[in-house]
Amino acid sequence: MSLSFDPSTLHTDLFIGGAWQKASNGATFPVENPATNEIIAQVADGDAEDAARAIEAAGRAQAEWGKSTPRERADILRRAYELVIASTDRLAAIMTAEMGKPLAEAKGEVAYGAEMLRWFSEEAVRIGGDHTTSVDGNTRILITKEPVGPCVLVTPWNFPLAMGARKIAPAVAAGCTMVFKPAELTPLTSLALADIFRQAGLPEGVLNVVTTSTAATVVEHWTNSGIARKISFTGSTGVGKILLRQAAENVMRSSMELGGNAPFIVLADADIEKAVDGAMKAKMRNMGEACTAANRFFVHRSAVEEFGEKFAKRMSELQVGNGALAGTDVGPLIEQKGLDKVEGLVTDAIAKGARILTGGSRPEGPGYFFTPTVLTDVTTDAELMTTEIFGPVAAITPFDSEDEVLRLANDTEWGLVGYVFTENMDKALRFSAELEVGMVGLNTGLVSNPIAPFGGIKQSGLGREGGKVGIEEFLEYKYTAIAV
Ligand code: ADP
Repeated sequence: MSLSFDPSTLHTDLFIGGAWQKASNGATFPVENPATNEIIAQVADGDAEDAARAIEAAGRAQAEWGKSTPRERADILRRAYELVIASTDRLAAIMTAEMGKPLAEAKGEVAYGAEMLRWFSEEAVRIGGDHTTSVDGNTRILITKEPVGPCVLVTPWNFPLAMGARKIAPAVAAGCTMVFKPAELTPLTSLALADIFRQAGLPEGVLNVVTTSTAATVVEHWTNSGIARKISFTGSTGVGKILLRQAAENVMRSSMELGGNAPFIVLADADIEKAVDGAMKAKMRNMGEACTAANRFFVHRSAVEEFGEKFAKRMSELQVGNGALAGTDVGPLIEQKGLDKVEGLVTDAIAKGARILTGGSRPEGPGYFFTPTVLTDVTTDAELMTTEIFGPVAAITPFDSEDEVLRLANDTEWGLVGYVFTENMDKALRFSAELEVGMVGLNTGLVSNPIAPFGGIKQSGLGREGGKVGIEEFLEYKYTAIAV
């Protein structure tokens, strides 16, 4: 296999106070390539002592960093953006090796993550405030915005670069310092990103990265430290709830990007070619391992056969394999646990009456591969209707009326994103208004965009990342009353 990075140049230590450091107990944990089951690297396994050093460094750096000028912060982000773009091949290769996504998708993620840095370099200089007069005219009211303070950042493994960039960029723009714990399955990209920020001139102590195999110990140390003022988490709803409890205990600001259970709705009048294109994107981006992945396909009964047939044909044409190899469309799943879960969900759906249009099997190892699969006639009691599939499996359920499909689509605790395909403007706007979600894709299978507010409602989360509002998550308002 050809790699466009030299394994000996990987950063594998903790990044604390601007310096690369071993874990205090000397421990490491392995990082596996999910396509080959080979161990790529051993990474420092931080513990509570390392967590303490990291949050203390962030606490010490906050006062001065909070007073840095908007232009300084913008310039650092702009340099980081340029360095990320210049390192596209290397970062993409690292991501493919530790996470499995095909190189082309990894390069797309580098571009998306880089754009977060560029966007927030532009937002850093536009923080602003407000000034008004009280209604009785006796007080001038001055409203300014200040950095929240040291932030705890915790990210998942599915978008190793973008999830880090989406949190670090607004925190830097706002003048916050950070302790960052990337997912244990994919620490290498985050460490490479930290080094880019070092090269870009981020002052020491502003960004501290602790990799660990004991996430709960490290993160709980931070939330209980009395130093951290905010937590920004992307991951499962279950862990999000644990962290919200810890945040409540310490009255910390919280941003949560949690799970999804996206409905993908094809109305009777939809353009089926467009819907199939959208379905391929909404389902297969990142092998289906995305919180935005279409989880439940609801297709009008009059269109279900044509849609199912065309979608299954496109899915069956995808090349499954090692993402580092040319021609691969679909990489492996991240780990055995994910593969077992996907297989179990397919078995359950079939037992409850679903039919396989394509796929449904698990190729021989090595690697955690699952064949792109389309199931139809999936019943509403199938487990995958209420579980994030996180794999290349599309579950189609026919519907008869628009009221019925809206009820089905909203019948979930999650509310991240919904996709709707129709050529009728009134119906499009009705569905956009009535879907209980934070984001809607109308005739498109892709909603992620650095300049748009990404986030969900219900148990899909709190707050937004990106867009004009993204920086607000890292800012506090201060109001000064001035006697006239
Ligand atoms: P996923 O199902 O995508 O792996 P998780 O929510 O388990 O999502 O993981 C997302 C991130 O949360 C990872 O960085 C993981 O290490 C971290 N994490 C998992 N459990 C805890 C916990 N109890 N406390 C803090 N962080 C955790």
